Amino acid sequence: MPELRQEPVTGKWVVIATERAKRPENFTQADKEEASADTTCPFCYGNERMTPPEVMAYRPPNTQPDKPGWKVRVVPNKFPAFASDDEPNLDKRGMYSYMPAAGFHEVIINSPDHTKSLGMLSNKEIVSVISAYRDRYLALKKDPKVKYILIIVNHGKKAGASLEHPHAQLFSSPMIPINVGEELEGASKHYNETGRCIYCDIIKEELFTKMRVVMDTKHFLVFCPFASRSPFETWIIPKKHSSHFEDLSPQEINNLASVVRLTLLKLYDGLGDPAYNFYIHTSPCDSPSRPDYHWHIEMFPKLAIQAGFEMGSGIMINIARPEDTAPFLKRIET
Ligand SMILES: [Zn+2]
Ligand SMILES: [Zn+2]
Ligand SMILES: [Zn+2]
Repeated sequence: MPELRQEPVTGKWVVIATERAKRPENFTQADKEEASADTTCPFCYGNERMTPPEVMAYRPPNTQPDKPGWKVRVVPNKFPAFASDDEPNLDKRGMYSYMPAAGFHEVIINSPDHTKSLGMLSNKEIVSVISAYRDRYLALKKDPKVKYILIIVNHGKKAGASLEHPHAQLFSSPMIPINVGEELEGASKHYNETGRCIYCDIIKEELFTKMRVVMDTKHFLVFCPFASRSPFETWIIPKKHSSHFEDLSPQEINNLASVVRLTLLKLYDGLGDPAYNFYIHTSPCDSPSRPDYHWHIEMFPKLAIQAGFEMGSGIMINIARPEDTAPFLKRIET
């Protein structure tokens, strides 16, 4: 079972999940360029038996679970990072703190099409994908052990995708991840000082200067943030204040689908199908609607490698200005 271990000096959490492991000696880099084994894809039609049984699927009523016919399919991750049924109670091993990595780790398979990445799906298909994110979010947030749910997409090997077939992953954790905790803290500090949501302030500033705006639509703003950490870092944020992703209305889901599609197509066309990661930052599961935090999506094309300085300092060196990358993306016709 995966385990959460706390680094004793900074309090940062690490998941130790060895299910899919390699023995330590197999981490040697000699076989780094291993030929990509042409194995059967567990996410394609007809191979449903290769995954754990589905927990949800959008499928016509005349089709059977774990059989073809689905539009979007959600299954538990075969090698979960969060999985334990144990209570997430803190325990001690000598001076060190740990707890079972209680929670869920699911895979949301976008569509039966093995070759079409998220941005290449139709608007209607992306609406289904985002609706599936939301449905799983709502189902899992009810569990009292779940403190936070993070939905992420890894596209391309360089971004850590181990299976080619386009999919997203949902992780639930029994504590608030540190990157989200830092945002919540900063946002709450700003709110206490000014009475305003800092993300709403950012939206206002970006719409005023316009120089980092990629796309401005009815419900969502797409922009490259002022302090972009890597080239072409791009955010998608609802223009109306909203602390919780799962509060999306059907109209907003529709608009978000088109914004996600166009943003990914711009990256695809402009940068030649780069690997990328993106994730949804939203409020903790047990928090009521809050005036100080504002959910958003952060996207990172994998164009630069984090090196020793970044790892050692936490300071990112970005070789591209957002004032240049945003107009570049804006100009790309999709
Ligand atoms: Zn496939
Ligand atoms: Zn706001
Ligand atoms: Zn964020």
